[in-house]
Amino acid sequence: MTPSLPPLLKLQDITRIFETPSGPFAALRAVSCEIASQELVAVVGKSGSGKSTLIHMMTGIDRPSHGEVMVAGTAVHALPEGELARWRGRNVGVVFQFFQLLPTLTVLENVVLPMDFCATHPVRQRRAYALSLLDRVGVADQAHKLPLALSGGQQQRVAIARALANDPPLLVADEPTGNLDVRTSESVWQLFRELARAGKTVVVVTHDRDVARMMTRIITLSDGTIVSDTGGTPSPRHEAAHA
Ligand code: ADP
Ligand code: MG
Repeated sequence: MTPSLPPLLKLQDITRIFETPSGPFAALRAVSCEIASQELVAVVGKSGSGKSTLIHMMTGIDRPSHGEVMVAGTAVHALPEGELARWRGRNVGVVFQFFQLLPTLTVLENVVLPMDFCATHPVRQRRAYALSLLDRVGVADQAHKLPLALSGGQQQRVAIARALANDPPLLVADEPTGNLDVRTSESVWQLFRELARAGKTVVVVTHDRDVARMMTRIITLSDGTIVSDTGGTPSPRHEAAHA
């Protein structure tokens, strides 16, 4: 056997219980999975199956009621509140459905912002690096505009450049093309594929089964549990591998 690296991401027995007026509700129930470096993982499942809750565990946006979340060697579930935002800024690039660019900053300034927040690059190099990221995602010519002057697809590319600002090992995206037309979506998916090939681990939530099949692994959630996983660590199952 070749020695394998520890998984970039490891969820161990994650349960997330929300208190609701009608009593406790488990959005995730004993979910475990490991994701290796450079995997390109689609998380699919019906609305309400727990996809966003699962993504929030990976980013530390929310914490499990039980269980452990390890990302790049850090126990995210145990990080003090005051360290979470900076940890996330350095280790996880997050891409949202509605882009969430700051409307009063230029495109370039939006990409510089995470570098300022985490002090990851020398101040004098930040703008040049941001420009190189915008170039990488194909929107360098829009750098000095305000976000709302751009199309939805261009804004999502800017959001991906922003997610890459601190060179995090993990990129997560919750329905990143939910607000884009089909052709624009395809080019965004293509970009995620390129990023995984270039060394990022990418986890994306999508409703689109065709898109999911382009990923290297599909995790299917139903009622807060993993019902199929084509990559299947630690307990491999392959039933959906080439559906
Ligand atoms: P998905 O992203 O797959 O549509 P979510 O992870 O957003 O699903 O939600 C899973 C379930 O948990 C849903 O039934 C949702 O109503 C419930 N839920 C999510 N967040 C909360 C919350 N903050 N309080 C109560 N219930 C929640
Ligand atoms: Mg969701």
